[in-house]
Amino acid sequence: MIRMNVKASASGPAISLHNLGRRYGAIKAVDGVSLDIAAGSLVALVGLSGSGKSTLLKMINRLVEPTAGEICIAGENVKAVDPHILRRRIGYVFQNIGLFPHMPIARNIAIGLELAGTKTGRQKRVAELLDLVDLPREMADRMPHQLSGGQQQRVGVARALATRPGLMLMDEPFGALDPVTRDSLVDEYKALHNKLGLTTIIVTHDMAEALYLADRILVMEGGEIKADATPAEMLSGNAGEAAEALVAIPRAQAEHLIALEKTV
Ligand code: ADP
Ligand code: MG
Repeated sequence: MIRMNVKASASGPAISLHNLGRRYGAIKAVDGVSLDIAAGSLVALVGLSGSGKSTLLKMINRLVEPTAGEICIAGENVKAVDPHILRRRIGYVFQNIGLFPHMPIARNIAIGLELAGTKTGRQKRVAELLDLVDLPREMADRMPHQLSGGQQQRVGVARALATRPGLMLMDEPFGALDPVTRDSLVDEYKALHNKLGLTTIIVTHDMAEALYLADRILVMEGGEIKADATPAEMLSGNAGEAAEALVAIPRAQAEHLIALEKTV
């Protein structure tokens, strides 16, 4: 089990976005976002569907090119970096997992190493990565369909970490999982983030998850960052209207549950 309370010295990079924008015709998917993210932080990006979260994330690893502004990772403009090299430095995990169905788990995990031309030590690295995400090493030889959704998403995390990226971008990574599996993966990811000293940006539409997981929460609406605060600030109602509207959802659920408990 991965349990680390002590934060490793951060190896993850700082990120800065300067007036970043992406248009699709008349739609401003991301509109004038400027941000500095500290090395080693775990930032949650929350907002309703269509608010621009995925577009923002995909500009960082150059799956989408900005139509305005720029992105620097550890002080380097990503435009100057070959996208393939950039993506080796950035782990990317997304909701639909995207394992290759006809490849065993070991090859799914090592695919980034294979693409990078790493020939030696792949098997050893796969074993290390399985340990890291708390999967038994025997799983290396299984096929994706033989694993549960939660196990598949652990493989997704292992694959993203294979090339030892300092930065992890996660787009609703646990959204499709049942709540119990999801809670334990969220816990374990947070421990991994700390242990490896990563910088992580995680997209979620679940404010409760963001409050629990993140050092800092960004609320997106219509392509803009409408709130930027710590979980404590969000909970104390000092982070503005957009934040308050999202905090109200888990708060109402909790109150509803407490009211129900009083009736049994
Ligand atoms: P989120 O991840 O918060 O749900 P997205 O970043 O996916 O939001 O989308 C933001 C906006 O940009 C939406 O209005 C969406 O329809 C639009 N959009 C995203 N990708 C494209 C695309 N490839 N072509 C046209 N419009 C897009
Ligand atoms: Mg999205």
